[in-house]
Amino acid sequence: MDFDLTDEHRMIRDLSRDFADEVIVPRGEEMERTGEYPYDIIDQMAGLGMMGIPFPEEYGGSGGDWVGMHVCIEEISRGDITLGALLDVTTSVAGQEIFVFGTEEQKQRWLTPIAQGKAIGAFGLTEPDSGSDAGSLRTTAVQQGDEWVLNGTKQFVTNIGLKNASVLLVAAKTGEDKKGNIISAFIVPKDTPGFTLGKRYEKMSWKASATHEVILEECRIPNDYVLGDPRRGFAHHLSVLETGRISMAAMSVGVAQACLDESVRYAKERVQFGKPIFDFQGVQFKLADMAVSIELARNQYLKAAWLKDQGRKHTFEATVAKLYATEMAEKVASDALQIHGGYGYMDEYPVSRYYKAVKLMQIVEGTSEVQRMILGRILGS
Ligand SMILES: Cc1cc2nc3c(=O)[nH]c(=O)nc-3n(C[C@H](O)[C@H](O)[C@H](O)COP(=O)(O)OP(=O)(O)OC[C@H]3O[C@@H](n4cnc5c(N)ncnc54)[C@H](O)[C@@H]3O)c2cc1C
Repeated sequence: MDFDLTDEHRMIRDLSRDFADEVIVPRGEEMERTGEYPYDIIDQMAGLGMMGIPFPEEYGGSGGDWVGMHVCIEEISRGDITLGALLDVTTSVAGQEIFVFGTEEQKQRWLTPIAQGKAIGAFGLTEPDSGSDAGSLRTTAVQQGDEWVLNGTKQFVTNIGLKNASVLLVAAKTGEDKKGNIISAFIVPKDTPGFTLGKRYEKMSWKASATHEVILEECRIPNDYVLGDPRRGFAHHLSVLETGRISMAAMSVGVAQACLDESVRYAKERVQFGKPIFDFQGVQFKLADMAVSIELARNQYLKAAWLKDQGRKHTFEATVAKLYATEMAEKVASDALQIHGGYGYMDEYPVSRYYKAVKLMQIVEGTSEVQRMILGRILGS
């Protein structure tokens, strides 16, 4: 058994770590306060090849793997979680779905710019009346001659509001059989007539992450924009969300690590009762518990990513990683704020931002309850 990262993984980790420290961390507070999308940082991430790590060079990637991608996502999220989310959606989810299920032409046309970071991908499954029960979606796609006509509303769509967002992968109902809706996956370019960017959501956190509504009205796309097997679009979407779970875990580990780093630093500086609060066992025990849970979550997301790289089944491991890491991050962020006392509640200390940010991790890309349902199903099978 080999727990070592390869030289290539270490290189990606160190590069991402330095980039996070030098470029992202100094901007985190401003990004959250202004809600402005950090295009200059996104461009630099693209220049470093971060969006294309797991894709072959022939499609604009760097020929790496999913362990490398997730080591990068952890470090970038330690800098700012919204940029980890950008990577998750464009690479782990949208880019991967085109890579795995796309035709050669679709990969050349849509994946290559996404892998190069010149274009950003987005993923549209959630609708106003279908979230956890994603299969009950109402967006429809009807074939008319050599076109598909899409109608419906997608909500809470990450990335699509960015000016360089290129495509939305849309899940739409194309029929029914005795099992229920037949759902197909479509590549819908953002500039298609009938594609309207709806409201930008006001959120409690993640202000610099683009979250928009998308309205599709008589939105016509050619037949060859169908992604993969038209009868298996839902399965295609769910299969890439499995990787999304690993990404969510890596993001959670990144922000939890930031909480721990800030807490150790603060505890060594803050003096009460005549000594640094770090010297009190009650504080050290909290820090020790934070370190334990971060380490376990990190090992679990790496194991899931490694299994994926081996081409082995990893549904259980990825689900455990998402559930454990996201719940762990909320507890770690809460403890970090506690260690900071009243100062931790103030916006000038980053832990207040981390605390608000981590709650979303238990909701997005499948809630904690949905993860438990998946694990329950596996245990019962
Ligand atoms: C900031 C943000 C960004 C997002 N980005 C995207 C994106 O890019 N693309 C996309 O498609 N979606 C995106 N989402 C949507 C996200 O994945 C959904 O919000 C999530 O899947 C939950 O769906 P819901 O909000 O409709 O909650 P609901 O499904 O309505 O759930 C409400 C509550 O009921 C619980 N619940 C539901 N069913 C059960 C059950 N059977 N048993 C027990 N409990 C249950 C849930 O766990 C939850 O606690 C985003 C959401 C947010 C907030």
